Amino acid sequence: MHPLIPTDHPSDEWIDRWAIAAARSDVDDCLRALHVHIDDVTAVHRPICVASGRCCRFGEHGHLLAVTGLEALWMLQRAGRTLRADEAARALDRAACVFLGGNMCTVHDARPTGCRTYHCDSTARPWQEPLAESVHTAVRTLHESVGVPYLLAEWTWLLHAVEQARLRGLLGGRHGAYHAADAGV
Ligand code: SF4
Repeated sequence: MHPLIPTDHPSDEWIDRWAIAAARSDVDDCLRALHVHIDDVTAVHRPICVASGRCCRFGEHGHLLAVTGLEALWMLQRAGRTLRADEAARALDRAACVFLGGNMCTVHDARPTGCRTYHCDSTARPWQEPLAESVHTAVRTLHESVGVPYLLAEWTWLLHAVEQARLRGLLGGRHGAYHAADAGV
């Protein structure tokens, strides 16, 4: 089993805690500041992107996107879109992102940091790897500072796990589909 694809889904308690934390304004500020930082670094290097969709069709291109639980809930809350019942399972089977429409990201403003730091342009490797590592360290520190469990997992697997929790009724309170049901946030 790949280390980014755990045997067991995260517990409901973990998902609930990620949902509560993802709705916090300080978490939002921190993640958005990281996105600005990534944009600034990327603007300096200007990697070539021909909108091939390679970075989002993981299985086809041998690429694996790792996302933390907190980031996943943040993204789902901000994207304002509920997955259809079979969508997350199909994305898992196909190893392609459920949010890819044609070759374009349909949740561009809410995409996780891993989507922002990865470029299929091979000339980007010398700077994108250190950038991805430093951003990942900052995201991990954010988990610690807000006191939520840390889990880094493959994107389609994690989305499927969260969607299964939503279908069980864990998420989807008065605050929206991917918010904790009774968090009072
Ligand atoms: S969230 Fe958007 S950029 Fe990230 S893998 Fe999915 S479609 Fe691609």
